[in-house]
Amino acid sequence: MPARRRQVAKRELAGLRKVYHGRDVEVSFDLDICVHIGECLRGHHGVFQLKRRPWVLPDEADAGTVAEIIERCPSGALQYRRLDGGAPEEHQGTQVTPIRNGPLLVTGEIEVRREDGTIETLPRATLCRCGFSHISQVRPKIDEPISKSADPRNLT
Ligand code: SF4
Repeated sequence: MPARRRQVAKRELAGLRKVYHGRDVEVSFDLDICVHIGECLRGHHGVFQLKRRPWVLPDEADAGTVAEIIERCPSGALQYRRLDGGAPEEHQGTQVTPIRNGPLLVTGEIEVRREDGTIETLPRATLCRCGFSHISQVRPKIDEPISKSADPRNLT
């Protein structure tokens, strides 16, 4: 098993990344690194729906559409694994792109070491988290923060 897959699998075992199984694509989500920008929710209302359990239904769109939306998730909170033989996410080297009034978007093979010592290689990451995004349905205001346990997606 390649190192990247091994690290992701380790986090799944630790229960840090929730996995949503579909027929052609598997989606995983880590709420800890979500920056609540909402690309997923705007991307496809059938696949990503906050008021539903589970909030991710990978089979509600074709695998290519799901992959395309997830690649717009800036934080790497959402990742996918194609089960239909489709190409995995790939990047040409590491790139850093400043987002206007937002964080730095990094794409590539980004090794993230957590406080607890676990390491995950992400295809995307954001380097700051100001919390000022007003697009989010989850955390609409910085003065009304939501705890991880209160986030509806934490329930599955
Ligand atoms: S960072 Fe944005 S696109 Fe990614 S899971 Fe969170 S809300 Fe969705």
